[in-house]
Amino acid sequence: MAELRDLYQEVILEHSKAPRNYREPAGTNHKAEGYNPLCGDRFTVYLEMDGDSIRDIGFQGAGCAISKASASMMTQSVKGKTRAEAEKIFEQFHELVTGHSHEHEAELGKLAVFSGVSEFPVRVKCATLAWHTLEAALEGKQEKVSTE
Ligand code: ZN
Repeated sequence: MAELRDLYQEVILEHSKAPRNYREPAGTNHKAEGYNPLCGDRFTVYLEMDGDSIRDIGFQGAGCAISKASASMMTQSVKGKTRAEAEKIFEQFHELVTGHSHEHEAELGKLAVFSGVSEFPVRVKCATLAWHTLEAALEGKQEKVSTE
């Protein structure tokens, strides 16, 4: 597991220790649960939608440093965005962490710290769990999301 230490960069550690938007917003009107059985990461993502815009977002749950930091940074990056904008960020983030494309690395800003995850396929599920859960919440699905 030593090589995984390279992934635990400062920003990831910092977010996992002090996750942002770690709460259920009072105006929550969409939510979804996500589970990554490979690692045991489990999160609920809460959304307060105002029409097509994400007025507020929060999450709660437990998981490894990568999944928690990714959830924290996901909430920061999509708050105030429209559904379409949030889906576009996820698409670019997904391309980056799966190693398919680094084309949008600059646009992704801080989220680019997860690019090293692409070398560890098992960790890709940790990094994308919160995003898949966000997508399910946006779609208003009630069933649990699993990365498997
Ligand atoms: Zn994990």
